[in-house]
This record gives sequence, structure tokens and C-alpha cells, in this order.
Amino acid sequence: MELLNIKNLDLANKKVFIRCDFNVPMDEFGNISDDRRIRSAVATINYCLDQECAVILASHLGRPDGKVDEKYSLSPVARRLQQLLKRDIILASDVVGKDATEKAKALKDTEVLLLENLRYEVGETENDVELSKKLASMAEFYINDAFGVSHRAHSSVEGITHMFDNEHKAAGFLLQKEITFFGKLINNPVRPFAAIVGGSKVSGKLEALVNLLPKVDKVLIGGGMAFTFLKQMGYNVGASLVEDDLLEDAQHIMDEARRLGVKFYLPVDVVAAEKFSEDSVIKLVSAQEIPSNWMGLDIGPATVRLYRQVLNDVQTVLWNGPMGVYEMDKFARGSNKIAHFVADSYATTVVGGGDTADLVQRIGLDDEMSFISTGGGASLELLEGKILPGVLPLIIEEKE
Ligand code: AMP
Repeated sequence: MELLNIKNLDLANKKVFIRCDFNVPMDEFGNISDDRRIRSAVATINYCLDQECAVILASHLGRPDGKVDEKYSLSPVARRLQQLLKRDIILASDVVGKDATEKAKALKDTEVLLLENLRYEVGETENDVELSKKLASMAEFYINDAFGVSHRAHSSVEGITHMFDNEHKAAGFLLQKEITFFGKLINNPVRPFAAIVGGSKVSGKLEALVNLLPKVDKVLIGGGMAFTFLKQMGYNVGASLVEDDLLEDAQHIMDEARRLGVKFYLPVDVVAAEKFSEDSVIKLVSAQEIPSNWMGLDIGPATVRLYRQVLNDVQTVLWNGPMGVYEMDKFARGSNKIAHFVADSYATTVVGGGDTADLVQRIGLDDEMSFISTGGGASLELLEGKILPGVLPLIIEEKE
């Protein structure tokens, strides 16, 4: 799949609109706690600045739900960008209002304007045509570099692409890199290829699991989703998270794995707790003997040993979803131990965004992984075999 390439655009001294993904996590004081997404956008922005472009940046942050809310202002992002780009960033006080439009119009070559949070506009998530038109009217070129939101048909991601012809739009370097990487991973992985899949629910990853089975050699399940499988196998899972309506799907996945010769691993022991809390009493129990009213909140030490053994010979590891409730120290050990093992291996290691990227970064192992995606949801949809709505209009049609 080839995408319209930013390098083929005649950008010199033009006005360029770049849709970025600056949806960064913030701590309780409003400080950016992980600026990976901002850093990842710098290559495309600098490329445009090197072409002496006037650069208009746009992103969403959190979910202000169509209302102006100071809490979701992009001003901390503007400050961080200023440091990273080592130049002034002009911040508009609105998205397509008077201030933004005037500032966009007056923007000179090599200046950078950041619009306010796109989701201050109710039309953004509705893919409103009028909003797309207003955004598009600010610039002569459109670049999508927001991989993390490319699975959403939103005004600044999908709608806006229809306002530019193929000579005036392209994928930025980050989007290109993510799409190329996942394409190779799915179509041509170095084997053995293992997928570690965790997180809270089977439902969120059902399609991805089904789609991954024909491509991988092993699947290692962890997190809350394991219990739906364990229950289907007839085990007593106590009060653990279970999706009863997905028991049949769980069986189908296990049957498919067997049919395809894919090794399918489930936890053999868990850290069980009486309540969902850091101060709960805990005990280590086998996966077949979780007491009623107790819930499994992490994989246990025997599972960690088993999973290390299973991962020993793999050449490619894809990891999406934590092994337990890693936000609480008591239930973070399983994820941490797997993270260390994966990081130390010589395999190509790919972390699929969101919570898994967060947990890897918390323990300082982010530099040890081969690739950390900036998009959790977007990377999952790619793995499901979907073409993302924000990417589709940027694909170059192959000639017969
Ligand atoms: P997801 O968004 O589906 O990737 O799930 C991530 C969330 O799953 C994290 O917030 C974890 O706290 C949660 N999680 C992981 N393991 C468990 C578990 N055994 N029970 C309940 N929640 C879990």
C-alpha cells in the first residue's frame, strides 16, 4: 500500500495544514507526562519549515465534547512545541473562529500557528463538511501526520482530505512510518512471531485476535481478557472480569488456533485479590482454583516463567495490552516482568500504543523496544485488517 508522499509535493513557500496527534497524557497539575506524540511530529514540521512553509498545526486533546474548556487547551502543547522546535509558536484562541482565521491568513513563511483544540468544535467528531471546508480554506496543502486518530472519520482527518487533490495532500513522515511498519509486520514477519495480548476485555480485541491468528505462531493471553477464555475452559474464575456473552467467541478463537496450529497460551496462575484496590489482601492461586468472590488482577509467577520460556525463541513480538492492572503497583509485577524480558530479547519488539506504551515508559524501557506505536486503537484496527478512514484517501491507486 503506497501513500501520497509529502516529498512529492511542491511545498516551497506555501501554506501547509498539518493534522497532528498532540493528544498527550497530562498529570493532575496539567503537565505533559509523556510527550512522545509531540516529539514524533517534529520531523514533518521541520521538513515543512525547511521548505520555508507557513505551518498551521491542528490537533485534538482529550474529550471536551464540542465545548470550549480551558482544561483541554493546547497551550501546554504550544509551550512544549516551542522548546522542541526552538522557535515561537503562535497559538490561536479558537479553531475556525475570527482569531484562528485572521492568524492563519496573516501567517508568514517559516512561522508556526497552532489552532486550539479541534474538539472545541462539535463538528469535528461528526465529520462535518462545513468544518472541513473552513479548516481546508486556511492552507494550500494538507498533511495527515496523526496516526493515533486516523481510525476516526473526523472533519480534520477524513472530511478535509476531500477538499484537496492528490497534488495537494499527503501522509506525513510519522503516519507513513506507522503504516509501513505495521504493513511489514503483518505481511512479512520474521518467525517465530508471537503476539502478547492483554488488557481488560476480549470485546475490544476480538477482531484483532481473529485476524492475528493466521499470521502468528503463538498467542499469549494476559490481563482481564484471559478470564473469559478460562471460564470457557470450565475453570472457576471467581469474581474475575468475564464477558459471558463472548464465551462462544472465546471457544471459536481457541478452536481456530488449534486448527491453524497456532500455540495459544493462557495464564496458569494469577494474583487474586478480594477487592479491586491497592490495599486489598492478595494471594497467588492457580488459574483453576480462584476462590469465589476473589478476582484475578495480574498473571502469577508461574505464568511469567511459562511466558518467558515461550518467548525464548521468538524473533518478532507484538504486544498490545497489559498483563494485569498495572496502574496499581500490587498488580503490575506480571506486566513489568514481561516488559523486561521482551525488552532484553533480540527479537523485533513492537508495542501497540495506549496502555502498553504507557507501562513500558513508566518502567523506563521505551528505548529498548524496536517500535512503539503512537496509536493504540489505530494500530489495533490495522491489525484487524482494516484500512483506516484517514489513510484511505491518501492511498495511491495502483495502475493495472
Ligand atoms: P485495554 O484498554 O482493553 O487495553 O485495557 C487496559 C486496562 O486493562 C488497564 O487499565 C488495566 O488496568 C486493565 N486490566 C488488566 N488486567 C486486568 C484484570 N485482570 N482485571 C481487570 N482489569 C484489568
